[in-house]
Amino acid sequence: MTIAVKKRLVPSEKYALKCPNPMTPEYITIHNTANDASAANEISYMTGNSESTSYHFAVDDKEVIQGIPLNRNAWHSGDGTNGTGNRKSIAVEICYSKSGGARYRAAEALAIKFVALLLKERGWGIDKIRKHQDWNGKYCPHRILSEGRWDQVKAAIAAELERLGGKKAPKPSKTETKTGGATYTVKKGDALSVIAQKNDVSMATLQRLNGIKNPNFIKVGQVLKLTDSVSTPTKGKKPSYTLPSGIFKVTSPLTKGTAVKQIQTALAALYYYPDKGAKNNGIDGYYGSKTANAVKRFQSMYGLAADGIYGPKTKAKIEALLK
Ligand SMILES: [Zn+2]
Repeated sequence: MTIAVKKRLVPSEKYALKCPNPMTPEYITIHNTANDASAANEISYMTGNSESTSYHFAVDDKEVIQGIPLNRNAWHSGDGTNGTGNRKSIAVEICYSKSGGARYRAAEALAIKFVALLLKERGWGIDKIRKHQDWNGKYCPHRILSEGRWDQVKAAIAAELERLGGKKAPKPSKTETKTGGATYTVKKGDALSVIAQKNDVSMATLQRLNGIKNPNFIKVGQVLKLTDSVSTPTKGKKPSYTLPSGIFKVTSPLTKGTAVKQIQTALAALYYYPDKGAKNNGIDGYYGSKTANAVKRFQSMYGLAADGIYGPKTKAKIEALLK
């Protein structure tokens, strides 16, 4: 599959303002526009105004529009003149995030496909994806964050990438210590910020776990703790999931039992938690409104009728993804 990208590039006389530096990208940064403009309007506004703020792509429910060449940097990450986000990452803005709804969901679905293609073209894996928040703490992509769906969006990009035959997620290179916490041994030329990024840990966490006051002073051979909790070692064997046949929906009284638990467990494995944050992520065996909502979110992400009713099509899609 290809996605036609319309180019509405900023004129070169505005390079000094919008994209002054040559760039060899290393990451892709996901944003929400926090307004309700179309991709065309988002890009024409950006290229036409006299602010420095800039981004490479805007994606809405219909199209992808490019405003900045990919070999030049854009100012979108808020991490400063020499920040990695601003200087090394491709910015993708997802439109219509302010009001959300069907238009936004369609824009997000197109962005997921488009980002997977960007990864595929570069031979990159899902580890190259960042959210704006990772660079400077800004609450962006706001809608994805407020709906607690960042893991889910990343998983959808990874699934799409796999479908395209792209690079699979790398096996974690973290080594398990006796206590179960992951560690990293500092090598020559390492910088703490890079170690943090590569291992998906924040700088602040790394400094706190290892009592590092000045991030410029790390020694070759130093063993850094990456996690403070005992992590569950994965042995590389995927758990298998059983899914019930038949139709499940919200009924009065609620349908309950092992079959519902199986649906909930499978959804949670795909990051569609019935109730993230609740005890056992809401896997309680009751087909209530939270489970129906998780089913609905799943269905809308995969182009199924989003009615919150679990049936043969939803079952088939979940099974295909968990295979
Ligand atoms: Zn942003």
